[in-house]
Amino acid sequence: MTDSSRAEFRIVGGHPALDLVNTVSPRIRGGAGQHDYLTTPAELLAWSRRIELIDLRDFSAVEGTWRPAPELAEKALRATLDIREATYDVLASRAGGAVVAPDGVKRSQGTAFERLMLRWSAAAARSMLIPAEDRTHGVADLVVGTSPAQLIPDRLVVAAVELVRTVEVRQLRACPIAEGGCGWLFLDRSRNGSRRWCAMEDCGTRVKIRKLGERRRATAVPS
Ligand SMILES: [Zn+2]
Repeated sequence: MTDSSRAEFRIVGGHPALDLVNTVSPRIRGGAGQHDYLTTPAELLAWSRRIELIDLRDFSAVEGTWRPAPELAEKALRATLDIREATYDVLASRAGGAVVAPDGVKRSQGTAFERLMLRWSAAAARSMLIPAEDRTHGVADLVVGTSPAQLIPDRLVVAAVELVRTVEVRQLRACPIAEGGCGWLFLDRSRNGSRRWCAMEDCGTRVKIRKLGERRRATAVPS
């Protein structure tokens, strides 16, 4: 279905909307040489399954709808990327550790909120309240994504709006670009709020090794 080596990047956001934001590396606005992990509908489908946004039944439904109608698959991919960039714009300037404020985020934030709102209302129009009996909490389920073609972006934008509404802002952090990190956003749920990197095994170690190399070079006696 998809190139597995490219699909196996880390999932570290702690929320599906942040994992979506982190499908570009490094995560900077208008930067060159970024790698985008969502360039085809097949990559989007595999990633959605991997982060458990969809179950196997959803996977088959989406794939079955997209296969004979590639234009619908492309439309869903475009919607997803729009939601991704709008979510990033809305959250980036509030993320701790985002030392380098991405250019234009402040200015584009108003439209980013509007874009999220538009995508969300379209997703709401495709959602349904289904009565649920014999339960102690709630009498109905809200099913988001009744249209398989748009199921993935619909679930993502609902997740993004939920995060924007409820995120504990002090937990929202960016892997520090200025210190050699990748700019990915994540929720720092550590008790003392000490998580600095997207993943210690990744950016944390890479930066450490680089700094060690710099120190060695600085103290090396030329022979
Ligand atoms: Zn990182």
